[in-house]
Amino acid sequence: MENETKCLHSGYTPGNTEPRVLPIVQSTTYVYDSTEEIGSVFDEPTKSLIYSRFANPTVMAVESKIADLEGGVGAMCTSSGQAATLLAILNICNSGDSFISVAQIYGGSLNLFSFTLMKMGIECIFVDVEADEDQILAAFKPNTRLVFGETLANPALTVFDIEKFAKIAHAKNVPLIIDNTFPTPVLCKPFDFGADIIVHSTSKYMDGHALQVGGVIVDSGNFDWSGGSFPEITEPDKSYHGIIYTDVYGKAAYIVKARMQLMRDFGVYPSAHSAFLLNIGLETLALRMERYCSNAIVVAEFLSSSDKVDRVNYPGLKSDKYYSLAQKYLKGSGGVITFALKGGKDAAVRFMDSLKLASNAIHVADIRTCVLHPATTTHRQLSESQMLAAGVDPGMIRFSVGLEHVGDIIADIEQALAVV
Ligand SMILES: *Cc1c(COP(=O)(O)O)cnc(C)c1O
Repeated sequence: MENETKCLHSGYTPGNTEPRVLPIVQSTTYVYDSTEEIGSVFDEPTKSLIYSRFANPTVMAVESKIADLEGGVGAMCTSSGQAATLLAILNICNSGDSFISVAQIYGGSLNLFSFTLMKMGIECIFVDVEADEDQILAAFKPNTRLVFGETLANPALTVFDIEKFAKIAHAKNVPLIIDNTFPTPVLCKPFDFGADIIVHSTSKYMDGHALQVGGVIVDSGNFDWSGGSFPEITEPDKSYHGIIYTDVYGKAAYIVKARMQLMRDFGVYPSAHSAFLLNIGLETLALRMERYCSNAIVVAEFLSSSDKVDRVNYPGLKSDKYYSLAQKYLKGSGGVITFALKGGKDAAVRFMDSLKLASNAIHVADIRTCVLHPATTTHRQLSESQMLAAGVDPGMIRFSVGLEHVGDIIADIEQALAVV
């Protein structure tokens, strides 16, 4: 089936007389007839429900929908996008390991990789998104366990060359993890280009309505763990009566381990009600993505034609540095545009404060147009050089085009530009 149909039907198929809409199973626990039966569930934890810290029917329906949309063997929802990125890495890396990430990634990921994982003994080695094969290979060490990139980076709007990085990662027997938040599976399916694991912040386009923070990890099932050095996946797990994930769960070894081990221990699982709201967002995702793209290209072209604008980044523009990669990997460039005014930071602040329809908010990829100044907000804690490496400079405005009529969005920009 196609995206539009999967968005509406995957993950939940009601039986005779059952509710048409995905039910909210708001319960921490599940009842069993006997002590023996409840005990046996711990031997086969994927067969029945134990406790809503790591599995719940409403959340599982959404997991299955997202796995289907991405073309993966399984998915696990988390309470935030940050939690998804953290667990996706901790599922592979231990203290003493390292991994490679491109520098052009979400600010929260950059902070997690540069500081918090470092404190846990996991080293991140950054390479530029445009690094060539030799430069990427030079970043590998004997303890490198994975490569990380972001399909369409927030807020740098660089397009990650998935095939190039996948080929190098696989030659080194490590998986490629992709943050696919901005394109969503509607605009890009990274598994088709060789990515092995996908993470999302579902707080953005997937939810779409700015209702709840969430994340998800999706496993392609394609990576051969036995070909590399991943004893936690291919050898007995002491914390789970010696289970060998690749033996018991085959292609789903990675994602089952993430649930049985990490979700059990960290407990960053969403509530049934959050998953229910996320599902409503997902139902219209394919339709909404189309409109974000068609609105954003009009806005990007309008900005490009203004003499007050210094530069515009939007990979859907023919003049954009990433246009050809976007043509290859994306079915559309989404709703987020970054640009700078000729007056730099002061003009940016003036412009943003003059917008009437677009709201100034720490959010992006909402149905309502919103705007943000990364240098003084999401990237405020970074040093100037880290900020520049992440693709953020003091004059940059991140403009998230919503689903209002594009004429109204442009009228708002026009009146705010007039004040600058
Ligand atoms: C927002 C975001 C995250 C973090 O997600 P939260 O849900 O806010 O924790 C990760 N990656 C990208 C690309 C994001 O935009």
